[in-house]
Amino acid sequence: MDPIISVAIDGPAAAGKSTVAKAVAKILGFTYIDTGAMYRAFTWYVIHKGEDPKDERASCALIPEVKIELCEDGKVMCNEFDVTKEIREPLVSGNVSYIASYKDIRLALVDMQRAMAQSKSVVMDGRDIGTYVLPDAQVKIYQIASVETRAVRRYEENLSKGIPTSLSDVEEDVRKRDYIDSHRDFAPLRPAPDSVFLDTSFLTIEESVDSVLRIIKDKTGVCAK
Ligand code: C5P
Repeated sequence: MDPIISVAIDGPAAAGKSTVAKAVAKILGFTYIDTGAMYRAFTWYVIHKGEDPKDERASCALIPEVKIELCEDGKVMCNEFDVTKEIREPLVSGNVSYIASYKDIRLALVDMQRAMAQSKSVVMDGRDIGTYVLPDAQVKIYQIASVETRAVRRYEENLSKGIPTSLSDVEEDVRKRDYIDSHRDFAPLRPAPDSVFLDTSFLTIEESVDSVLRIIKDKTGVCAK
């Protein structure tokens, strides 16, 4: 039987983690887990229930009733709703870092994330995967890019998905989320000491994917079949 491998890819907002993680998982036959989508789905639910995401007590009170599912085909379900598109809208992006700073919500979602990685090989992307969720992951990558590069990439991605935004709003959102994510008390964004840094500012998607595959091969011997 093949060993179970965990690949953790952390880094700031819009660094291209999900694009790279998804491609790498497909090539290696691993399962891709987008932990940001889980925090986004929780945020969507708080707003859907008419609560204020800045209200920690009201948001955490919803923990027992929130059911999030990441489907194989990339669909994100929250209770009975398909929220795949809604969780990328500016309203959710602008509030998700508040929700992600609440310890009780993190603990609930981290439990789910650890359970998903227990029985199969995964590529999991987020902010605290290498430091907190999967500290024993065999491969830890900290993926970065300049804030300007990240803003342009996210702006173009939004355009392609039909989500109306301006470049300056996207850049402001990215900077705000980076600040909140790296300054929260519990499991903040930071590189694990044993992570490999990957700066994708001047790399194409293909080059970034190749770099990650090379790191995985060096650390585990696993490569594309
Ligand atoms: O990865 P993405 O940008 O979709 O994540 C949305 C937000 O979810 C992040 O800005 C961060 O606040 C939160 N997040 C987190 N921990 C993770 C994944 C995402 O705090 N593991």
